[in-house]
Amino acid sequence: MSTEGAILTVRGLQKYFPIKGGILGRTVKNVHAVDGVDLEVFAGETLGVVGESGCGKSTTARLLMQLIDPDEGALYFEGKLVGSPELPLKAYRRQVQMVFQDSYSSLNPRLTIEDNIAFGARVHGTPAPEALARTHDLLTRVGLDPARFAGRYPHELSGGQRQRVNIARALALRPKVIILDEAVSALDKSVEAQVLNLLADLKAEFGLTYIFISHDLNVVRFVSDRVMVMYLGKVAEIGDAEALYATPLHPYSRALLSSMPSMDPDNRTMEPALSGDPPNPIDPPSGCRFHTRCPMAGPVCSQAEPALTQRAARHLVACHAHDPASGYSAPSVKEAAQ
Ligand code: SF4
Repeated sequence: MSTEGAILTVRGLQKYFPIKGGILGRTVKNVHAVDGVDLEVFAGETLGVVGESGCGKSTTARLLMQLIDPDEGALYFEGKLVGSPELPLKAYRRQVQMVFQDSYSSLNPRLTIEDNIAFGARVHGTPAPEALARTHDLLTRVGLDPARFAGRYPHELSGGQRQRVNIARALALRPKVIILDEAVSALDKSVEAQVLNLLADLKAEFGLTYIFISHDLNVVRFVSDRVMVMYLGKVAEIGDAEALYATPLHPYSRALLSSMPSMDPDNRTMEPALSGDPPNPIDPPSGCRFHTRCPMAGPVCSQAEPALTQRAARHLVACHAHDPASGYSAPSVKEAAQ
């Protein structure tokens, strides 16, 4: 298969979480967390990932990190199949690192900042003196003076300082890709801006590729080259950030973005104002998963699943209304009112 130009390529990624029941504790249902995701991440870009809670964005991140095993699907890094003799899992894990939202729980409270950062490099075989020198260099690069911070413990730092430590820790293995899962969401707005600027500087300096997951649509627009919109475990739309924000093609993206609050920090709302909750991922709707909330849903939408298809330059959408061959017809006035 062609993975040309992509640093990461995902094909048919699927993860269901079983729900056990009955006296025998058998699997009675599954949560369809990620359900057939295809994706390319290009070297040097920042790919933003948005969607409501439960849309599968964080599970996708954990699958890309190989923190959990997929049920189905293949992952390629620089064209090599992850887990194959050509690219064993351990070698892949050095290349992709993650920064989580909770800056405290990601660090070992019993280790100093220095040891927290150096730990991963030592586990992967870097000699201790080299790991230490790299740690001090990274602390400096993330704006923390090693003389002041190397010997401290995580609880002695502020949330912003801890997140800088987590970023340094992620960089310690010299990865090419960093997944930022709500990494700035818990920070005050002023600290968030500082950390975003730091991330931009580090990206340029180290030639990194970012996957930036956030519920804050303004921040995603600010940092991303491309944006992927997820809904109930599937990709609804993916395209260049400016084009997608200016002209979203998928009705879900339109609803999500039309609820986007102003850039005025005093007016910022963090949750999209879509009507109703997403359907239960244990029993997702047939056909297009958005049809139960979509104002444009036509008869075909509940029957056939729309494929993610290119509709403009670098812009893919999974919606029958954009596919002339789908048999889509707009809802009647009566249907639309229901
Ligand atoms: Fe709406 Fe139909 Fe498009 Fe789904 S496929 S987003 S239901 S118009």
